[in-house]
Amino acid sequence: MAHDCIFCQIVRNETPADFLYKNDALVVFKDIHPHAPVHLLIVPLKHIRSINDIDAKDGGTVSEMILTGKLMAKKAGIAESGYKLLFNVERGGGQVIFHLHLHLLGGWK
Ligand code: AMP
Ligand code: ZN
Repeated sequence: MAHDCIFCQIVRNETPADFLYKNDALVVFKDIHPHAPVHLLIVPLKHIRSINDIDAKDGGTVSEMILTGKLMAKKAGIAESGYKLLFNVERGGGQVIFHLHLHLLGGWK
């Protein structure tokens, strides 16, 4: 089923984004309103609303998101200095885009 959410549009190349990485399961692009010197979003191709909606069959996707966070931290040169990997879950947890995504934040001096 096709979704009209903004991240589905980015995944389908219908809305532009500053992509840094893509594979057959996910894309990585720069957050449009960065909260850190490095602020990337790791977004699965599949539309999943939030962490509340994952189950065992999504374990591979979530694991790949985290491994990609580690890879992108290394590529951005912040692996040693350190970084945060963050899921906001539902409105009370600060989620505003209801398509699963992992924030990679770092690069502070
Ligand atoms: P969250 O609060 O976890 O739902 O985070 C959503 C993030 O998506 C925010 O940090 C926004 O700045 C970011 N965002 C929203 N629209 C876009 C877009 N078109 N391109 C890149 N990042 C976006
Ligand atoms: Zn979506």
